[in-house]
Amino acid sequence: MSYSQRFLRCATQQTKSGAIQCKQQRVSQRCIATSSKAPAAIIPDSIHHSTRPGPPTPNFTFGAYPKVGGPNAKEVYRIRIPEFADLEAERAHRKLHHAVALRWLGYQGYNNEGAGGHVTVRDPILTDHFWINPHGKSFSYMTPDDLVLVSKDGEVKEGGNMHSINPAGYIIHSAVHEAREDVIAAVHCHSVPSKAFSALGCKLEPINQDACRFYNDHGIYSGFGGIAFKQDEGRHIAEALGNTKGVILQNHGHLTVAKTVDGAAFLFGAMDRCIQAQLLADAACAGRGTQTIKVSAEAAEYTRSNYNDEMIYIMFQSAFEDVVRASNGELPSNVQGEIRRP
Ligand SMILES: [Zn+2]
Repeated sequence: MSYSQRFLRCATQQTKSGAIQCKQQRVSQRCIATSSKAPAAIIPDSIHHSTRPGPPTPNFTFGAYPKVGGPNAKEVYRIRIPEFADLEAERAHRKLHHAVALRWLGYQGYNNEGAGGHVTVRDPILTDHFWINPHGKSFSYMTPDDLVLVSKDGEVKEGGNMHSINPAGYIIHSAVHEAREDVIAAVHCHSVPSKAFSALGCKLEPINQDACRFYNDHGIYSGFGGIAFKQDEGRHIAEALGNTKGVILQNHGHLTVAKTVDGAAFLFGAMDRCIQAQLLADAACAGRGTQTIKVSAEAAEYTRSNYNDEMIYIMFQSAFEDVVRASNGELPSNVQGEIRRP
């Protein structure tokens, strides 16, 4: 489906509560499924105990937040996924947040495999093209102008940095973007915990609140076929990802996806920390001759259901602030044409 087709579908769509979505012709195509009066508290009122979400759609999912602080509580400032005056503004926003996500990954040590590790973000105008980090450049100094624009065929296009890219990055990420219309961003690096965990052939277990984010919502690719220089490896990874938010790449590492690069970067770090926690807990249990205690299926599913697209975007914004402040003015906190949602 083309970008304009998505917009038209979105513009005529109504939520169950009857709110007309995407009223402004010049505003981004993203739909809004929440109340403009929603307060700041992150306490969703919709509970889905027994149903798995359907296949992911390109539209954002937002939280439905009940009022807290009493009936007369004043409106407060809330971090939200922004809207955009036009697609150029949305492109600039994606590139800024792409560069910030890469810097953050660099600060966390995920740049430790040299040229390994890649983050891609779908272009909002040329929707079958994506932006990717240039091959061999440090994540920690990335700017929007450093990013490379790549076609679905792997051709580096003018309009971005005319720089080589990691072939494995293209093979893996192009397959994911091709298979998943809803995926705007994908993050993959090689971390030490995921290199160890991915050799165990198991998924994350719901052993703590944070691990529940991935409960019944990640895949495992068990057929490692060598460094991803062949198209088949990318397709197999995309198949193992399925409709979920992440995939354990056996004997390799892990990869996460989202509708924002902020969300994909947050999920990548979150998944890695959950992997570390499970390795620690399993090792301790092995020493004690016990087993980890699991969260109930109902509680795990409820917790996972709260991590909607806006929630994972919000979860990254403290890291975004850290990176922007550390750049000493090199990176702005906003782009022209970025519109704050109420
Ligand atoms: Zn890799």
